[in-house]
Amino acid sequence: MGYNNSMKQLKILIVGAGPSACYVVDALTKTQLPLTIDMIDRYPQPLGLLRTGVAPDHERIKSLDSYFNKILDQAPLNFYGNVSFGKDIVLDDVKNAYHAIFFCTGTESDNPVPGLDYTLVNVTGSRDVVEWYNGYESNRTQFIPELLGSSVGIIGMGNVALDIARILLKNPQELAKTEMPQACIDMIQNQAVSDVYIFARRGPAQAKCTPLELEELLDLANVQTIIYPSPIALSDTDQIEINEINRVQKNVNLFTSIKANTTAKKRLHIYFYSQLKEVHTDADKLQAITLAKTILSGEPHHQQTTLSDETYHINLDSLITSTGYKGAALPGIVFNEKTHCIPHESGKITTQPPSLASYYCAGWIKRGPQGVIGTNKAGAKESVDSFVNDVEHMYSKQLHDFNLGNHLKNKQCSYFSLENWQTQNTYELSEGQKQNKKRLKLTQISDIEHCLKTKS
Ligand code: NAP
Repeated sequence: MGYNNSMKQLKILIVGAGPSACYVVDALTKTQLPLTIDMIDRYPQPLGLLRTGVAPDHERIKSLDSYFNKILDQAPLNFYGNVSFGKDIVLDDVKNAYHAIFFCTGTESDNPVPGLDYTLVNVTGSRDVVEWYNGYESNRTQFIPELLGSSVGIIGMGNVALDIARILLKNPQELAKTEMPQACIDMIQNQAVSDVYIFARRGPAQAKCTPLELEELLDLANVQTIIYPSPIALSDTDQIEINEINRVQKNVNLFTSIKANTTAKKRLHIYFYSQLKEVHTDADKLQAITLAKTILSGEPHHQQTTLSDETYHINLDSLITSTGYKGAALPGIVFNEKTHCIPHESGKITTQPPSLASYYCAGWIKRGPQGVIGTNKAGAKESVDSFVNDVEHMYSKQLHDFNLGNHLKNKQCSYFSLENWQTQNTYELSEGQKQNKKRLKLTQISDIEHCLKTKS
């Protein structure tokens, strides 16, 4: 297209600093266009779900942090952490101040189970639990770790449900080596979690989880897995699904080859074909649930549930729903309330707000909460390609004078820079090493400020 260095710099804003945003930075850098990037995130540091969502014992995935840190370090980028879009900056502030704005805001909340009362003190959504064992407090629902108890129910059979079950059941000595805060490990131990129940509304062939993660859970030392109903009975339609999808075949093989673990002190109960029917409470606390057995019908890969008359009652100390996440609308940006995503064409936002900036999206806010971290790479590249297609029309735009740092200072919004994050990161790793942990995470603003003060 014949761009050269004499061309003026393109100003880019990226809202969100998680994996999809990092892949956007990478793809932008690789265009070799002359550009400067401002990146904001509501967390004090970048990396998003890699820090707040990925299970602490998934160290191979967590180790992507050095890869993402390198991308950010090498880009022409200013990071502003602890800054929320819609609060600290609004669309009106930035719509004429950048050539392009990318939204990479992921998902915001849990997909709730209809009819379940989340105000019960021992009922929570998975997001709060996941952020808690990653050292963050999110309070999207309410989560009181002291109320976990020894028998914990989890609704849903995706990878997040498996993560939670594994963290609750895993040997605490193994967790201690990870970046999981010791206080969380101690809390789980003090609760003496002995029985975790996973309730899947469909069967083994429809389990959403992936075989690697399933095997990891079923292989936990000290845990006996018990499947209901047993033996597993598969329909002809299930068999078609098994034959057609390798992941399904592997999952079913794992479910059907569970061995007795005679020395196990803890139990994982997996209830298939089980849908929540009734919650039994005492005041503001859940005490037990009634599940209805479901019946599957429909075409292969589209089997849906209907409730049978068969029910069963299970006493629980707490209940976590792990039934997927959903994105939230961003002020001023058209949002699809059914898919909880921003409507787009190849990453370019379909309804462009009238302004000098052009708008794009990437990650879960673009495609919904599916796939692993690496899935974001191709999606980010697609969005950046759409941006590149539009670039020619951007150079002529006379942007308004705007400096994000000054704007935030004027608003008395204190933010954390990339340099701050580099200092924090080095501190976390070295303090972790002293305690034989992967890292000692700082997640409270006051702790981060203290670290920055003592290290500068
Ligand atoms: P998910 O994979 O979409 O699983 C959601 C689960 O909730 C499914 O079992 C679904 O059952 C069930 N569900 C949904 N609504 C329900 C309801 N009303 N009642 C009962 N059950 C309900 O979501 P996720 O586990 O949150 O994971 C999100 C994404 O992150 C996935 O792509 C996942 O693979 C990824 N992830 C990956 C890893 C990893 O690679 N290690 C770790 C964590 C997450 P149906 O199938 O019947 O709808």
